[in-house]
Amino acid sequence: MQNIYGITLEKLEKYFIDKNDKKFKATQVFEWVYKKRVNSFDDMKNVSKETINELKEDFYFEKLEIVKKLEDVDVIKYLFKLKDGNTIEAVLMNHDYGLSICISTQVGCNMGCKFCESGRRKKVRNLEVYEMVTQILMVESDINKRLSHIVLMGIGEPFDNYDNVIDFIDIVNSGKGIDIGSRHITVSTCGIVPKIKKFTNFDKQVNLAISLHAPNNEIRSSIMNINKVYPIEDIIEAVKEYIAKTNRRVTFEYIMLKGVNDTVECAIELSQLLKGLNAYVNLIPYNETSHIEYKKSSKDTIMKFFDVLKRNGIQVTIRREFGSKVNAACGQLRSHYEEV
Ligand code: SAH
Repeated sequence: MQNIYGITLEKLEKYFIDKNDKKFKATQVFEWVYKKRVNSFDDMKNVSKETINELKEDFYFEKLEIVKKLEDVDVIKYLFKLKDGNTIEAVLMNHDYGLSICISTQVGCNMGCKFCESGRRKKVRNLEVYEMVTQILMVESDINKRLSHIVLMGIGEPFDNYDNVIDFIDIVNSGKGIDIGSRHITVSTCGIVPKIKKFTNFDKQVNLAISLHAPNNEIRSSIMNINKVYPIEDIIEAVKEYIAKTNRRVTFEYIMLKGVNDTVECAIELSQLLKGLNAYVNLIPYNETSHIEYKKSSKDTIMKFFDVLKRNGIQVTIRREFGSKVNAACGQLRSHYEEV
């Protein structure tokens, strides 16, 4: 038995073909699930009784449980409980360009970034495809609106759950599925170089964001364990290949940590590192969390850093901060709920 929300259209077509049945039935089922949003096979009006009975033997409908919801101006943070009792988070943000959701890809994370609450808790397991897809469906049904953008920047490292993430993107992007444009989907990675290379050959025009957070290996290795395996020069080389092959602009995320990576020297070094790349830097005001000692840089420091990048010809933006009630860093809601 498989959760219906975990299967791509192509795999569902194969399911029917393997049964010597008609491939188009997969499209019918997909449209009932994602366009009409039915919650049972019995509601699929143009599907034969026989097929419905077969589907019932192999698939079931099950979503997640919303256990907590925190709301503030333009943002709602959701805590979901999974079937095995683990919890994950998703954050809905109301931007001027549309409704965007930040979803989780794993329970916990093994990348060990020192500033990150999700990484403080080790990885328990990868999320199944349906556990990512239903984060979208449940939020859409909760607010009774369709989302326009997805970022894979919640709990977990998407490239440490590569195959499931690719299937997830397939389902949400499919015109017969949730139908969110590939240019409106962003995958964020801490820099797993072999997977960046693999992603370069992925046939959808999905955005790539790299959590850089430092202009050199010394600082980066002191805050991100992954840098000891894949240092900055390897990341830049992989990003160059990605840009050459896809012609797409890459985002570098850069958390501003007080006294760690936020000096003018760092900004100059970062400008030199990224000069000439089709990329832009997204400066992220750090969300402080009670378990971790890092502090956020002041607004003034962030502005100075921004100005240096600008003056050096680097495209740069500063990430908007959302309401203070839910300002908690990603992973904090889960920690608070589980009291660890
Ligand atoms: N593992 C992936 C995606 C999840 S983290 C990655 O590393 O990109 C999403 C982004 O949030 C990353 O850039 C991460 O470094 C950043 N982040 C983690 N903790 C944060 C915090 N407390 N405040 C602000 N950003 C944070």
